[in-house]
Amino acid sequence: MNYDTYGSSAVELAIELANAERDDPEWAVAFLGSHDEWFTPGTSLELTKDGAERAAETADLVRAVAVAGSQADVLTRLNALLALARPRPYATDHDGELHLHYARPDAPVLEQLTTTVAMGLSQVVVQHGWQRLGVCSAEGCDDVYVDTSRNASRRYCSNTCASRSTVAAYRARRKA
Ligand SMILES: [Zn+2]
Ligand SMILES: [Zn+2]
Repeated sequence: MNYDTYGSSAVELAIELANAERDDPEWAVAFLGSHDEWFTPGTSLELTKDGAERAAETADLVRAVAVAGSQADVLTRLNALLALARPRPYATDHDGELHLHYARPDAPVLEQLTTTVAMGLSQVVVQHGWQRLGVCSAEGCDDVYVDTSRNASRRYCSNTCASRSTVAAYRARRKA
């Protein structure tokens, strides 16, 4: 899986959005701030209350796509997410590499976020298969992930969860 393209790294933005903690009411603004490299320089990162709710809706849809267990569910959920996107792609080499951006550069931050996330996620699903998305198998973790391993063998959201589960399995075996 070629991973060095904007299209596939946009899926990571989608996954991070889906996994973002939402306990703090300011979570969406904090998320935008910590991912500001994704937005056109100068874009206002402020959100109205309605904006935060729409960010949550996008996050929920990404999660729904990642946890879907059938292609029919993936299609319905992906299309619900794509319906929120306003793609207006353009080519750029702002970082030295020629690549595509999905949202118009002067779009409000939420439109840039939702469009980038929806297009990035769909691209991975249609090019690499929806089975590339999954939910962490570690006990007590329900974060989602995108599997970029060569043989599609990923089961955990992070190395932390993978090693935690290995240790737990080892202890369980020793006990038995
Ligand atoms: Zn770029
Ligand atoms: Zn996990």
